[in-house]
Amino acid sequence: MFVSFEGVDGVGKTTQVERLRAHVEAQGRECVVTREPGGTALGVAIRRMLLHGVASDARPQAEQTGDGRQSEPADIAPRAEALLFAADRAQHVAEVILPALERGAVVITDRYLDSSLAYQAGGRELTLKDIRDLSMWATNGLLPERTYLLDMDPAASHARLQHGEDRMESADDDFQNRTRDAFLELAKAEPERFRVIDASRSIEEVWRLIEGDFVAIDHS
Ligand code: C5P
Ligand code: MG
Repeated sequence: MFVSFEGVDGVGKTTQVERLRAHVEAQGRECVVTREPGGTALGVAIRRMLLHGVASDARPQAEQTGDGRQSEPADIAPRAEALLFAADRAQHVAEVILPALERGAVVITDRYLDSSLAYQAGGRELTLKDIRDLSMWATNGLLPERTYLLDMDPAASHARLQHGEDRMESADDDFQNRTRDAFLELAKAEPERFRVIDASRSIEEVWRLIEGDFVAIDHS
């Protein structure tokens, strides 16, 4: 059983993932909880690049200024960013997700390919078909049986975040709103796979909705 959680930052994905893990483990079953980006060692390195840019000593010699100062770090180009997320995902599927599914474990991932469709296509405005093709190639077509989209106004969810902003979280409101809308469009296009949940409700109410649905689809 393969389940993903999606939604913009701060909607409570991690909290609900942990609730579902507790539910599955209470039945004595193996549950593998993982995330993107950063579900493998390669993924952790990619995540660091995506969120914090590239260290100055990793930049090409030509970028160093004559007086010994470093030039400003170059931002990651949208297509390069999309490829880094795809590389993270390809490794994630090969190293973590597929082996766990083959063992019969329940796999729960905090973000999967819909994040790329929403952020890189919706947010960064790359072509949806390109990102979908890239993602399907990276995953060899592996899709979750269920995707819980925790939906809420990005301005409100962003306000919940405790930690400091990274390169991605500092994106502007338009970007966040485009991303949210893209998630909702994806859910509309695949109603069998998605369940859209109002994440502005309490943690307990959100969990009850997820639990009720999971019990209904969980035949293993
Ligand atoms: O969910 P998490 O905080 O681990 O995601 C890291 C950052 O990367 C977030 O700010 C998220 O908005 C961003 N992200 C993205 N495109 C993806 C996945 C995550 O821009 N495909
Ligand atoms: Mg985050």
